[in-house]
Amino acid sequence: MRSPIAIPPARPAPPPISLREIFPWFAFIGILAALSVYFVGAEQGAYALLPGHAVHEFLHDGRHLLAFPCH
Ligand SMILES: [Zn+2]
Repeated sequence: MRSPIAIPPARPAPPPISLREIFPWFAFIGILAALSVYFVGAEQGAYALLPGHAVHEFLHDGRHLLAFPCH
């Protein structure tokens, strides 16, 4: 006897992603995160890599929002 409820066919499982394939993305995201933390948290005063105050002023609100010491 057939069931009146249609059961959809099973979907194939997505192919697994190996660590070798995903490691460059982890490294890339880690570098971006480290640069973001540096520029938001430490790009000022004696630790500034870039001359001037443009980067400091651009990220100033983010610095205060994330409770990094500023002034
Ligand atoms: Zn400030």
